Amino acid sequence: MKPSLQTLEQVVRNRRTTTNERRQLNQLIADNMFVTSPYLTKANFENLHASDIQLLYELYDENYFCGLLQSSLDTKLVSFRLSKRMTRAGGKTTRWTDPRRRRPARYEIAVATTLLYHSFQEPEGLVTVTGFQCENRLEALMRVMEHELVHLVELLIWSDSSCAVRRFQDIARRLFGHTHHQHELLTPSDTAVKEYGIRPGSRVRFDSQGRSREGIVNRITKRATVLVIDPQGQPYSDGHKYTKFYIPLRMLEAVE
Ligand SMILES: [Zn+2]
Repeated sequence: MKPSLQTLEQVVRNRRTTTNERRQLNQLIADNMFVTSPYLTKANFENLHASDIQLLYELYDENYFCGLLQSSLDTKLVSFRLSKRMTRAGGKTTRWTDPRRRRPARYEIAVATTLLYHSFQEPEGLVTVTGFQCENRLEALMRVMEHELVHLVELLIWSDSSCAVRRFQDIARRLFGHTHHQHELLTPSDTAVKEYGIRPGSRVRFDSQGRSREGIVNRITKRATVLVIDPQGQPYSDGHKYTKFYIPLRMLEAVE
């Protein structure tokens, strides 16, 4: 094992960052992205290039891994790609080996762009990644990248990696504060289904100004839009009249 890889292993096994430290490092990384990338002009970017993923890789390496990724892994052996085909997963890290020809292993980090671009189209279009609610595309991309970097370091050091097992989860928590370990980008609707069992079309009960009301969930962003039958309300295409309420998800109770 290369000495730099041994040092990387020590960093990965032992480093722990505080919330404050992470906030500072992540801000530094984001600021640097805007200064360095010719494509990135705003946090809700509309244009992303594979070289931006490489840049993120380098910045994360410098700030979280003491530059040891770049000194352990020849730049020719790692590539970066944007993928339009992955729809649920935020990213994917792959290792290729060719033992017959005794070539060194090659690595690739692919980042899914479809859901990134579909999200954050409106102020309340939040997305949850690795347990963090992200306010914009760059934040979501950074959380995805952090997850993929844990895969990469595991593959480099131990030749295997799985986010379903404890070693991965321990590293992701200590280094990046991740509390969830899936590849997915979760939209508010996904979170509503997972945490509250509520989806568009669900019948729900809630309190509004001391009155208990019942209605149907029409739409979910940060809050749910609930339509309540009301003779004074707006006419809808189903022939009924409804009044709209915007209710935080945790205030809703699903009605069987
Ligand atoms: Zn994973």
